[in-house]
Amino acid sequence: MGKVYLTGAGPGDIELLTLKALRVIEDADVIIYDRLANPDILEKAKSGCEFVYVGKEDGRHIMPQDDINETIYQNALKYKTVVRLKGGDPFVFGRGGEEANYLYERDVKFEIIPGITSAVSAPAYAGIPVTHRGVAVSFRVVTGHESPNKKTSQIPWDNFKTDDTIVFLMGLHNLPKISNKLIEIGKSPDYPVAVISKGTTKDQKVVVGTLENIVEKTKDIPTPALIVVGRVVELRNQLKWFEDSNS
Ligand code: SAH
Repeated sequence: MGKVYLTGAGPGDIELLTLKALRVIEDADVIIYDRLANPDILEKAKSGCEFVYVGKEDGRHIMPQDDINETIYQNALKYKTVVRLKGGDPFVFGRGGEEANYLYERDVKFEIIPGITSAVSAPAYAGIPVTHRGVAVSFRVVTGHESPNKKTSQIPWDNFKTDDTIVFLMGLHNLPKISNKLIEIGKSPDYPVAVISKGTTKDQKVVVGTLENIVEKTKDIPTPALIVVGRVVELRNQLKWFEDSNS
């Protein structure tokens, strides 16, 4: 039986891959991957390495999670070094915990290789520090997948009244509801919001607006994209190094 490395691929910029991730990718007999921010990573694999695609395309699941879990397990029975490559960090909304659990229950050895999450790195490349002295003493990373109108929401919306930074992942389709909800709990309609699309890649796009106008301004923005809500967004005026260095 082989060993499974649940590996973070980072957010997009291939140089944000960790040395440890690179080592197991180079060593892998099989790589099971999602729709990755950067498919060039697969070129680092040795010749003869098998590739198994289990990703999602435009929100359409190629394979249900149960089948992904089973695929990883079957590959562990067959190969020595199995890399399960996931965008960003495997434990940040990547269902990496479920995959690890499935392996644990079947006595398969595994390691977790953390990755640089888009939640922090896409803002960094947009010139937005998620915390900043005197502006935000904490940041939250919140699923944007759940509709804020859901009666049994587990998201503590009432705690979002402060200026602490909120990063919503998987939230673009719910942006109208999210911004309305934040206004409803008492944030000003001109409170700063940024949407970052394809963060850390050469196609990165950043749109800055307010709770009131961000939906209008991001109509055709491509995914993957995340939403940053907070006063820290204003720091981008001085700190947007990535776009400034590319222009
Ligand atoms: N495990 C991943 C997140 C998986 S959820 C991580 O740690 O980054 C997928 C969501 O992540 C997307 O809907 C989007 O909100 C965000 N995302 C991933 N890569 C991104 C990128 N390069 N730029 C902006 N958002 C990204």
